[in-house]
Amino acid sequence: MPDKVQRVKGVNDILPAEARQWQALETVIKTVMDRFAYGEIRPPIFEKTELFARGVGEDTDIVSKEMYSFTDMSNTSMTLRPELTAGVVRSYIQNNLQQISPVQKLWYEGPMFRQERPQKGRYRQFWQFGAEAIGSPNPEQDVEMIALFYAVLKELGIEGSVTLKINSVGDTESRETYRTALQDYLRPHLNELSETSQRRFQTNPLRILDSKAPNDKELVKDAPKIRECLNESSTSHYDQVLVMLNEMDIPFVQDDLLVRGLDYYTHTIFEFTSDALGAQDAICGGGRYNDLVKELGGQDVPAIGWASGIERLLLVVEALHPAEPKTDLDLFLIIMGDDLRVKAPGLINQWRSAGLRCDSDALRRSMKAQMREANRQGARYVAILGEDEFTQGVVQLKNFESGEQTAVSFDKVVSTINPQAGD
Ligand code: AMP
Repeated sequence: MPDKVQRVKGVNDILPAEARQWQALETVIKTVMDRFAYGEIRPPIFEKTELFARGVGEDTDIVSKEMYSFTDMSNTSMTLRPELTAGVVRSYIQNNLQQISPVQKLWYEGPMFRQERPQKGRYRQFWQFGAEAIGSPNPEQDVEMIALFYAVLKELGIEGSVTLKINSVGDTESRETYRTALQDYLRPHLNELSETSQRRFQTNPLRILDSKAPNDKELVKDAPKIRECLNESSTSHYDQVLVMLNEMDIPFVQDDLLVRGLDYYTHTIFEFTSDALGAQDAICGGGRYNDLVKELGGQDVPAIGWASGIERLLLVVEALHPAEPKTDLDLFLIIMGDDLRVKAPGLINQWRSAGLRCDSDALRRSMKAQMREANRQGARYVAILGEDEFTQGVVQLKNFESGEQTAVSFDKVVSTINPQAGD
């Protein structure tokens, strides 16, 4: 026997039972995005590698070790998108979206690719949905962004298991002040830092704050706080965000060590975590990125966005509100006698066109086996069609729950099952 081809490590097959949970979540996402007046954008799945190197940052984990890159036939390095902010911004610039309106509010959903070590809640192909608002520098835009994700959580009934952590990394000037203060604090301990943090001491010292190495964690506990280094306008921006979050009854905790993994953040950054998950407890992360549009060749336009992992969000939903198995096939047609096999598809088609969810057996099995299949699919009704019924233009319609059975003419089946529907 030939070997079976196995799935690639760290990727998932979403099978129909699970896909139903995805669809339910997607409906919530679309509804909420629509309420907030965000329009959907669908950028390509792969882009030039250069976009991520410039847009996400060379020194990030994503770019330095996690990208799925390949060289195409024209010798250009391409990368399967590891995230979508860079792609959305590239598309915003290339399509001159600022000409349509000075603030563009966009949302997306789709698979992302990162070569991380797989574990529960961490995959190599995973799905994100996210939102970006490009154009406004003001704190009310930050708060709308957070409220947008919070509305999704509320709609899913899981906001109670979730914590919003928030911090500000300020503007360029504030970050420069902080960078120096942090380096001054860490310099005497440089040899005690992990290898990665020693490298980042020069390239990106803020990232040392979210190092997972125990010794680094111990050291940064007493490090100066970025909030203490914010200049006046950065402090004012951040304070207004907090005031508005309070106004909107969105609970949050301030987290001085929150810096987030990507290079492009400015001012407000935030992360939502859930206590229904294990080690991989982040369900959404985002922040302001006022310099990215300019750095990718666009105008000097401020922006803010977030992204949320769909697999993780569904793990939280499943932990808090386990899904009922689906039992909503309206009708299963039981066909008695092979001569009727030619006639039955026309009938089923007619009922399906009228909106009924119907199925029948294509294996020409016994009546008993067909009944069992109807039961397995959770049909509310079965319609039994034998030679006599066919001659009279009726089926024996049996309500599975009450056990009641009556002869119903072909053209009355739909209205009997769904009294609101017309035949
Ligand atoms: P990031 O783009 O790294 O800020 O991630 C945003 C969100 O995407 C996280 O909060 C997670 O919910 C999700 N996420 C990130 N990486 C993965 C992964 N490897 N597998 C599953 N979900 C992920």
